[in-house]
Amino acid sequence: MSLHIIFEPASCQGYANCLIEAPEVWDFDEDENKAVLRLENPDDAVRAHVESSARCCPAQAIRVEERQ
Ligand code: SF4
Repeated sequence: MSLHIIFEPASCQGYANCLIEAPEVWDFDEDENKAVLRLENPDDAVRAHVESSARCCPAQAIRVEERQ
């Protein structure tokens, strides 16, 4: 099983909480005022950060799934 992040840019409100929680996978586009997902399938070592970024998104624009 591996981590898979699903990001909905249309829902992103630019709070940048995700970037604070998991800088390993998120970047921020200042012009668009939206998060940018750099790593869709991050290493298991950053699982806690990734899950926290999804929990801390006020816009619920982030989901984390397990994939084969
Ligand atoms: S926390 Fe959510 S709303 Fe805020 S920048 Fe990240 S994805 Fe967008």
